[in-house]
Formats: sequence, C-alpha cells, structure tokens
Amino acid sequence: MGLFSRDKPKIKIQTTKKDGFSGWLKCTHCNELIHTNELEQNQNCCPKCNYHYRLSAEERIHSLSDSDTFEALFNHLQPVDTLHFVDTEPYPARLINAQEKSGNNEAVIVGTCLLNKHKIALGVLDFNFMGGSMGSVVGERLTRLIEHALAHRLPLVIVSTSGGARMQESVLSLMQMAKTSAALAKLHEAGIPYLSVLTNPTTGGVTASFASLGDIIIAEPNALICFAGPRVIEQTIGQQLPAGAQKSEFLLEHGMIDCIVNRHDLKQTLTDFIEFLKGNTFEEAETHVNGQSPRHGKKASTNLSKEVKN
Ligand SMILES: [Zn+2]
Repeated sequence: MGLFSRDKPKIKIQTTKKDGFSGWLKCTHCNELIHTNELEQNQNCCPKCNYHYRLSAEERIHSLSDSDTFEALFNHLQPVDTLHFVDTEPYPARLINAQEKSGNNEAVIVGTCLLNKHKIALGVLDFNFMGGSMGSVVGERLTRLIEHALAHRLPLVIVSTSGGARMQESVLSLMQMAKTSAALAKLHEAGIPYLSVLTNPTTGGVTASFASLGDIIIAEPNALICFAGPRVIEQTIGQQLPAGAQKSEFLLEHGMIDCIVNRHDLKQTLTDFIEFLKGNTFEEAETHVNGQSPRHGKKASTNLSKEVKN
C-alpha cells in the first residue's frame, strides 16, 4: 500500500468543551502552550518561561496578605467628574465602564493586613481600572494610607501598576504626585519603612512620584518601568533605545531599583526586609499616636499647603 493511497486513519477527536475554549493558551512570551489552570496555580506566571502576567488587585492582595486579614480603608472616597471632561466619551461613562470591568470603584485598593504576622499598610493599584491611572481618589487614598501608616507606625507596602496620571483629571491628577510624595517624606522622617513594588507596567506620573520613593524598591522580572514609554522616546529623539531598556533588569543594572524578585518569593522577601528594618531603625508599634490620624477630618491639600508656608 502506497504512502498516499492508504485509508484515512480511524482516530476520533474527542472534546468535552461545548463553548470551544479548551483552556489552553499560547504564552505571548515563549509561544508555548499553557493551560489556564496551570497559570492560576502559578500566580499568573508562565510555567514554561516564568513570564509574569498581570494580577488583579484582589489577586495581589490575596497573594501577599495572611488569609482573611486584609481590611480595606477609605473605600468611601469615590471619583467625581470635577472638570466635566469629555474625550471620545464623557469621564463619568468611562468611570462606570471601568467599575464594571474591574469590579472596583477606583484604581487603587488600600488597607491594612498581616504579612507573615507583621501588620502592614498595603496599597495595590489595579490596572484593570483605567490602566491603573492616578486620579484624585487614587492620590487621596494613598496619602491617607501613608498617614495611617505614620499614625500607627506600620511599615508601608505599595504595589504599583499604572499607565501614569489620569488625563481626565488633568492638573488635579498631577497634583497627586506632589501630595503623595510630601506624605512619604513625613513617613521617611519618622523612620518608618516604605517598600515599593513595581510591576508590569509602571509608568508616567506614578513612576515619577510615590513608586520611585521607596526605601527599598523591588521590581518583578521583565516589568516595563519608565516615565515615557519606549515608542514616545524613540519618536522624540529619533533613535532606537538599547534592547531591554526600561525593563527591570536594565534598571537594576543602572542602579534605579534595588532588586528583582520573583512573584513566588515576594511575600517572603517583603517579610525579610521588614524584619531586617525592624531590627535596625524601625520600632514596630500597633498603638495610635495621639489616638487619631494627624489629618483628622481635614483635606490633605489644606494640611500640606500649611506646612509649605511654615
Ligand atoms: Zn511562557
């Protein structure tokens, strides 16, 4: 029997999926086939090449905090369309879409939790909400979190992923850079550690403010970390950037960040740093300072502008 003349092989292809999606995906980084279950079990890292896919804010909180210890704070702060901004669609419509898509009411979740039994103040940006962009509410929630950390002497951890400032809030958004930075300066003066975790991507006004102000700056592998993205820079200077520029590994080589940590090791690494700093410059305390937040009932901008005058 010739090779090309034989009958069709009697192989039945079985499928149990009715919707057509088998759960198999092609890794965008290594092109290997991976199963969604494998991804989920591996904290959204490719089991073949260790490419770190994004986590939602909830998944990140779940991966870092001891089980059922996270308590959200300042969730009542809601975005408003002060400028009546309309681009291709009105800002309020964008907010509603983002809230539906992400399941969150803003692009950051802040609160307290236990991290291997150490109480910490934790802020996590959510890229699913308008690209994790920093509007007034993101800036205000983070500022209040920093002040909460200061009042209660809690180590602060912020996990960033962001496209930068939120253009729909214009200068109000840019103001958050100064506000969060000023609050972090107070935390620094009080000797309370701030660990900043940069994940893919961290860009724009977030990179240019609180994300780069950590006492220790940790990045996930292969994360894009920059102010302006590579395309914008290449168009501006008319030159190609070196390969891997603006990635974690490049930034580590050039002294912009302190270490690159695999997602699986992040919780333990944060714990090690906190224990190290606690033993040196920082005394962990659970008690209130004067029994209340230093900014009790006042807006941050009022307080900060007062301090500038002094
Ligand atoms: Zn892969």
